[in-house]
Amino acid sequence: MFILPKLPYDYAALEPTLSADTLRTHHDKHHKAYVEKTNELAKRAGLDGRSLEDVVRDAHRKADQKLFHNAAQAWNHAFFWLCMTPQPAAPSGPLKAAIDRAFGGVRGFKDAFVAEGVDHFGSGWVWLAAGSDGLKVISTHDADDTLIRDGLFPLLVCDLWEHAYYLDYKNDRKTFLERWTDMVANWAFAERQLAAANGAGEGFLYPEVAASETGAARRDAPGHGDRPPA
Ligand code: FE
Repeated sequence: MFILPKLPYDYAALEPTLSADTLRTHHDKHHKAYVEKTNELAKRAGLDGRSLEDVVRDAHRKADQKLFHNAAQAWNHAFFWLCMTPQPAAPSGPLKAAIDRAFGGVRGFKDAFVAEGVDHFGSGWVWLAAGSDGLKVISTHDADDTLIRDGLFPLLVCDLWEHAYYLDYKNDRKTFLERWTDMVANWAFAERQLAAANGAGEGFLYPEVAASETGAARRDAPGHGDRPPA
């Protein structure tokens, strides 16, 4: 059974970039529905007790589209909440150096990230990810994510589904992405993910009931994502 992870901040904490109304609907309705459907479908598929990362990959491998879409959306949203913070700090250390190498600076990253998100047709996600040849910005359709892409380790993601921004920005996805990058992007989280991509820790894994109840180590499953070669 997968839980719906609590938001790591209050509903109103990201205002004015994102309203409490948007966060409440997005988390309490959309994300909750993906988690509930995943639990139902994973049980039916005999995947009880497996990590969500395993369920996503297994469903993708078996072309179980319904389970894949719900499980990947459950995972993507949990990751997305951590990619935002009410107290953003500029990128620093190895992350700043990697951004400079790949994009010529934070401004160059923002331009690439916003352009990728604006140009993305329909629903999906825009990612900053670490690959074997440095950082890159990619977008994925619907529920697709980096879990099913070899050699890409996610650092940041922004939700491009209209439910993520329509209440606050109507059809203005560009302004949403610009403000998101400037005002709430959680670079401290991205720095931890990059460290994990380089072998220090395993990076984000979807929380499980057992771990939060007992405080025990999460599990012995393989780490998230396929690490790019050092
Ligand atoms: Fe969403």
